[in-house]
Amino acid sequence: MTVAFISHSDCGRHDTGWRHPEHVGRLRAIPRALRDDLDLYQVLEHVEGRHATVAEIQLAHHPGYVDSVRRLAEQGGGALDADTPVSEGSWDAARAAAGCVLQGVDLALDGKVPRSFCAVRPPGHHALRVRGMGFCLFGNVAIAARHARRQGVERVLIVDWDVHHGNGTQALVEHDPSIRFVSLHQWPWYPGTGAQEDRGPHGSVWNVPMPAGLPAARYVDALRVAVEDATREFTPGLVLVSAGFDCLAGDPLGGFTLEPSDLAGLTAFLVERAGAWCGGRVVAALEGGYVPERVAAGALAVMQAMT
Ligand SMILES: [Zn+2]
Repeated sequence: MTVAFISHSDCGRHDTGWRHPEHVGRLRAIPRALRDDLDLYQVLEHVEGRHATVAEIQLAHHPGYVDSVRRLAEQGGGALDADTPVSEGSWDAARAAAGCVLQGVDLALDGKVPRSFCAVRPPGHHALRVRGMGFCLFGNVAIAARHARRQGVERVLIVDWDVHHGNGTQALVEHDPSIRFVSLHQWPWYPGTGAQEDRGPHGSVWNVPMPAGLPAARYVDALRVAVEDATREFTPGLVLVSAGFDCLAGDPLGGFTLEPSDLAGLTAFLVERAGAWCGGRVVAALEGGYVPERVAAGALAVMQAMT
């Protein structure tokens, strides 16, 4: 098996309510679609992820913040900001979301399964060191990058094609020049960060802000150029992907025009590059995407391209 599908039943226990765009139906749509694609289903290694430990979450987050999320969930829930509810199950869900991505990294580093798609929620790329925001509790991908570094990976590339800027991921990794972050996102748009001039304190950030409504090829080409640029004198030992499917045409929270086939093309490009860099190690984690059927179609396209 070369591709794992990693998820955890606890990811469904982050209860935001059905009127919130980031509801559990987004996640359920993926295995449902997979069962209708038996050829793909059969070539995937199906893995139940694990929970991240508190120490692992603290690779990216302040201990006091981590504890405050746990306590809020224990008390029955609340909200981190107007968009970011916490329910009783959210602590277990958030630890599972981060843990699934860690498991993908471990499978890749062990040489067992070089590529994974992690179907997780809550998403992570807006979460800051001391504060959750934008539907995100913990920075799943940033935690995975820090973990990979600790496991001896010298250089990590993070590619974020969610329609929103991965402000949390940038904040959590920009001080470590051995982790490079490339983000394609709509501009101007939530959360308002991610200007092209913002390269981070070490020049290890490539922000690609783009207007809504352009032909899909424009977005794809811009992201490819940025990845090429970020890896000119930097050979990653692991590629992490913040796979947000709100960049697909028709998403209620974005104005990009991509189709699942465009993300398949981008994935194939990253897999090919990763083949030359690091034995093809690519771990993708679900971020945004608010039309469940489109999330599923996008996820399947990414997994197909990974095989
Ligand atoms: Zn998003």
